[in-house]
Amino acid sequence: MVINNKERAEMLRQLAGTNVSLCIQCGRCSANCPVAWKMDVLPHRFVYELLNGGNVDVLLEAKSPWKCLSCFSCAERCPKGVSPAAIMEAVRLTHIRAQGNNKLNPADLENYDDKMPQQAIVAAFRKFNK
Ligand code: SF4
Ligand code: SF4
Repeated sequence: MVINNKERAEMLRQLAGTNVSLCIQCGRCSANCPVAWKMDVLPHRFVYELLNGGNVDVLLEAKSPWKCLSCFSCAERCPKGVSPAAIMEAVRLTHIRAQGNNKLNPADLENYDDKMPQQAIVAAFRKFNK
């Protein structure tokens, strides 16, 4: 079944379960993300693209969800209670389900390198063991 951009945005919104319509695009989530410097698409954009029925492909093709530590700093600092972390998780889940699997393929972690914080390893374990 082929679904369009709007339907995929809705699917991600439902998977994430966070209210993106509250976002005021202040950027605090990205400013407080400890690995933003390693991300190709910043956390606030994950909200923005769902908010405006934007380019979901940008989110699904981004490396950022695999850099994300699941630390929830973005959600903690959001003045509107939005959780970019939940959208990162929704994107990861979308990829994992597309593989017909409940687990992450170790090859997907190829972007981890020796400059990543140790917490990334812990987060990777969580993703492996879903
Ligand atoms: S998700 Fe929250 S912190 Fe991030 S841009 Fe939107 S309102 Fe600001
Ligand atoms: S949960 Fe992910 S996106 Fe949010 S602040 Fe932590 S590392 Fe960044």
